[in-house]
Amino acid sequence: MRAKKLEKILIRGPNWVGDAVLAIPAMKAVRALFPDAEITLLVRPFVAGLYAAAPFIDKVWSEAKPSRLTDWIRITRDIRNRQFDMALLLPNSFESALMMLLAGVPQRVGYATEGRQWMLTNGVTAGSKSVHQMQYYLDLVKVISAIVESPSIEIEATAHERNTARRLLAREGIPIEAPFLVLSPGAAYGTAKRWYEDRFANVAETLARELGFYVAVIGSETERPIAARICERIVCATAILAGKTSLETLIGVLAESSLMITNDSGPMHIAAALGVPTVAIFGSTDETVTGPYGLRTRIVKHPVECSPCLLRHCPIDHRCMNGVTVDEVCRAARELVGA
Ligand code: SF4
Repeated sequence: MRAKKLEKILIRGPNWVGDAVLAIPAMKAVRALFPDAEITLLVRPFVAGLYAAAPFIDKVWSEAKPSRLTDWIRITRDIRNRQFDMALLLPNSFESALMMLLAGVPQRVGYATEGRQWMLTNGVTAGSKSVHQMQYYLDLVKVISAIVESPSIEIEATAHERNTARRLLAREGIPIEAPFLVLSPGAAYGTAKRWYEDRFANVAETLARELGFYVAVIGSETERPIAARICERIVCATAILAGKTSLETLIGVLAESSLMITNDSGPMHIAAALGVPTVAIFGSTDETVTGPYGLRTRIVKHPVECSPCLLRHCPIDHRCMNGVTVDEVCRAARELVGA
């Protein structure tokens, strides 16, 4: 399909933070192909902050998942009124394609999954082999002739995000300008993805002493007890940020940090895209599909025959995570920071 001049483009963005980061190279490719078009990104509120200062998007349109039919109809009508020339659908949901069809968007581009081929003008058949999620999005935009040879996932935090983060860190005990490492020990998906609290604490204590870092522990409100238990085990100065950061503040915290030690999670992808040295601990999931993308990343994984299982909770003895040692994680971190 050849690229036509389009004036207004709507990108329906992914619903998860990690996917929202991995879609950035595809969005940049669309921007490069249509430098003069007005590109609007329709996303859920909890990922909107990721694109607040993104130069490849003109307008970020944030809508919560419609809970009533009347909300769904209102959004569909809004899309119709805004008269987009093309909609690029990054989620594979039936509902997202139906919305664009009923909104009368003339060109509708997406993967022909979930029985939605008939609703798309440019339905793309996914390859049989699983590819990295970032490549999956790039393969989709190839259909509109976007050039995807040198994907760039890099993002930058704004000065406001950094300043807000530093003020929060200072309130929590990490002095302004002090170097610190970040632990991300949670995983919303389930316990199968979680490495152990005592080992996170051990890694943090070891590296903080060696490198002269403070320690900040991030996570959601529900993961606050995990963060608290880890900090109780650490003698060095720590700050519990779990439950205290918006997405924008989290971006600022990660951008200000010197090192990230993390489970497979959304913040892992943000840190990698910011260029922060990131050690990612993998077990039940497939790093070839959802691994962090960036030059300053290391994956630590213990090979077991049952991985990737993609389960939320391990039905056996969690050998994938049990096999990952503190020494391995510390070694990967030292390599990344050149210590
Ligand atoms: S089944 Fe295997 S890969 Fe899955 S969580 Fe358990 S040990 Fe890990």
